[in-house]
Amino acid sequence: MEYGTWNIIFILQILKLSQTHITYYSTNLKAPEVSFREALLKGLPPDGGLYMPSYIPKITGEELTGFVSLEYYELAFNVLRHLLFNEISSEDLKDICRDAYNFDVPVEKVYDRKYVLRLDQGPTASFKDFAARLMARLMYYFISRDNLRFTILTATSGDTGSAVASAFHGLRNINVIILFPAREVSDTQRKQMTTLHDNVNIISIDGKFDDCQELVKRAFLDPELSDIRLSSANSINIGRLLPQSVYYFYAWSKISVNTDDNIIFSVPSGNFGNLMGGIIAREMGLPVRKFIVATNSNNEVPEFLRTGNYKTISPSINCISSAMNVGHPSNLARIVAFYGGLMNESGSLLKTPDMERMRNDFFGISVSDEETRSSIAGCYKKYRMILEPHGAVAWKGMECYHEFSDDSGNQLFVALETAHPAKFRKEVESLPGLSLPSPDSLANIDSKIEKFTELENDYEKLRSFIREQG
Ligand SMILES: *Cc1c(COP(=O)(O)O)cnc(C)c1O
Repeated sequence: MEYGTWNIIFILQILKLSQTHITYYSTNLKAPEVSFREALLKGLPPDGGLYMPSYIPKITGEELTGFVSLEYYELAFNVLRHLLFNEISSEDLKDICRDAYNFDVPVEKVYDRKYVLRLDQGPTASFKDFAARLMARLMYYFISRDNLRFTILTATSGDTGSAVASAFHGLRNINVIILFPAREVSDTQRKQMTTLHDNVNIISIDGKFDDCQELVKRAFLDPELSDIRLSSANSINIGRLLPQSVYYFYAWSKISVNTDDNIIFSVPSGNFGNLMGGIIAREMGLPVRKFIVATNSNNEVPEFLRTGNYKTISPSINCISSAMNVGHPSNLARIVAFYGGLMNESGSLLKTPDMERMRNDFFGISVSDEETRSSIAGCYKKYRMILEPHGAVAWKGMECYHEFSDDSGNQLFVALETAHPAKFRKEVESLPGLSLPSPDSLANIDSKIEKFTELENDYEKLRSFIREQG
């Protein structure tokens, strides 16, 4: 072969490599790009942005067709290997997926081609298990390999905390600190965290979820804590984000008839990690027609879609779908980045994203508590389907879209049910004739001993606590 031909082959190789080697950039664009391992263990880039993949690989139609016969963990492996292949071997990744996803993922038909995807069968009965269990195993994998010690520091509005605590509980060389807003999580949610003990430390903050999140962000940027290896494990960690694209593929694989069969997903949204996972799935090639972005009365994102102006809600509004009481979703910066804009951590839009494309891809809707309650009652009455407040927001969002659009009845719809109804007994058991059995994960929790620390909303106090633990 001639020298020139070799040259071309060489350049093609480089192009191929640079395309497939996925790095992670910061949405604030002022930090160096890093590997997946580094983004996972760091949590936040030093410029206060969020890590995003520089490139999202594609899954072919042929491969999609093959997904139909896979179990959840196999499908997770087959999606995630596209993103992680150059940092984890296939065997290790498969083992991690098998170990993380050892529970059912039911796709329930409600009527016609309308489905509910039940993401509530994991050990803490919330969809956050999907993200937390994989992230914990990925972290453990990298930490053990390098013989390091880590502190996981995270804020929770309810379900993240229990999922993270359960996912990391008992892992060597990992210390866990979780902050929750004292009056905003249910008794069950609190007990799921405070009854684990061992390497799991729980702090009740006299404040709101946004305060907890602010405290955590400060700790990450605090030079005085730079000798402690801190890592976040809430929805801002990239290791939580990627596995959240998998269940969208799974739902599709169970209900689609052919590869052109596109779905409208209704996503009950608070911090918008769930939706961002869906956006990645779609970018990888999953046929998604639209996402219904369903929020409770914290409607800053539906308003943003409507008006093009973004205004945070502070303090956030207390609604019965408590895990979605977020006045400024951190993952919004990622969504804005994905659509070509730039939003900083305090929610200022430094560059407007492609609003037209966003409006085309998303239908934003805000659902009140009253509508949520009547949706729970209505679904039970009409279809004998039991939903809890978050899933009911998604279901109601889907109904609203239905009224507004002229879609044929043949359109595939999937509403995401994100928690087990037994976690929200008070709201759900007001339904006539209904008594709800607890899943195994929630039974017996009342008889266990609780242990947690109460702190004021004061950063200095948190810093001392981290120092003592680290
Ligand atoms: C966290 C959570 C949500 C919101 O998910 P985001 O990814 O934060 O948008 C919805 N429902 C339940 C039950 C949750 O725990």
